[in-house]
Amino acid sequence: MIVLETADAMRAWSEEQRGAGKSIGFVPTMGALHEGHASLMRAASKENDIAVASIFVNPTQFAPHEDFDKYPRTWDADLKICEDCGVVAIYAPRRDAIYPPGYATYVNVEGLSEGLCGVTRPIFFRGVATVVTKLFNAVRPHRAYFGQKDAQQCAVIKRMTQDLEFGIEIVILPTVREADGLAMSSRNRYLSAEERSRALCLSRSLFGAEQMLRNGIRDAKSIVEFVRNGMTDVQIDYVELVDADTMQPVERIEKPAVLAVAAFVGPARLIDNVVLNPNGAG
Ligand code: AMP
Repeated sequence: MIVLETADAMRAWSEEQRGAGKSIGFVPTMGALHEGHASLMRAASKENDIAVASIFVNPTQFAPHEDFDKYPRTWDADLKICEDCGVVAIYAPRRDAIYPPGYATYVNVEGLSEGLCGVTRPIFFRGVATVVTKLFNAVRPHRAYFGQKDAQQCAVIKRMTQDLEFGIEIVILPTVREADGLAMSSRNRYLSAEERSRALCLSRSLFGAEQMLRNGIRDAKSIVEFVRNGMTDVQIDYVELVDADTMQPVERIEKPAVLAVAAFVGPARLIDNVVLNPNGAG
C-alpha cells in the first residue's frame, strides 16, 4: 500500500494505472475509520481492479465553532483497516496541498444543500462538494463509493457529478450499524456510555417508522410525529421525510423516501436515516 500526499503524485499514479487498463474504485473519508468505511473499501476493492481511499479532515466543511480541531485522528489504525480491506493507495494530502495560500474556488450545489443539515451547517455541503471535486480530480476514479448514512451528502454528490460531467459512477452502500442499531460514526467516539445509550433513540425511532410503513401508514405527519416522540432523550435538530433525489419534503410516501434525523447528544451531533420504500424492499 502506498501513501501519496500531493494531487500531482496521486494523479500521476492513477494515470499510470488507467493507462495499464485498470479500473479504479475510490472511497473518500476523513479517517477515524470504522466498519462503515470498511464496507465501502471492501466493495471498491471487489468491484474494481484497484481501490484507493483518501484520508483528509476537510477544514472547509467545518464552521469555526464546530469540531475540526478535536475530530478524531487515528492514522495508524486507519492504515491497518485500509490494508485489510484491500486498498492499494491512500491519498492523504496536507491541508496546504488542498487549500494553498490564495485558494478561492468553491463548488456550491444549490437547493439540495439548503435543507436538513444545510440549515444548521450552512457551509458544510459547499466544503464537501469542493473537496470531493478536488479529490476526484486527483484520484481520477471510475467509481466512487459513499454511505447512505449521509443521505443528503449522497444526493449532493450525485447531482454535482452529473452537473459537472465528471463521468464517475457514484455507488451508494447501506448504513452499517452497531449490533444494537446505532449507526456507526466517527463521532460516536465523543459519547459517554450514558450519552451513547440515549443516542439509541435515533435508530429505534427510525426502525419504528419502518414498522409503521409495513402497517400501511404512509402520511408524513404521522410518521414524523412518531419519530419526534421517540427522540425525547436528545435535542432534536430535525426530523424530516424527504424525496430521496430532491431532498424536498414529501407529504405522503408514494415512492422511496428518506426519513432523516439529526440530534445533539452531549458533545456530538449525530445523523441517521432510513429509506421508506412503499414497495417493500429496504
Ligand atoms: P466520513 O469519514 O465521515 O467523511 O465518511 C466517509 C464515507 O463513509 C462517507 O461516504 C460516509 O457516508 C461513509 N460512512 C460513514 N459512516 C457510515 C456507516 N455507518 N455506514 C456506511 N457508510 C458510512
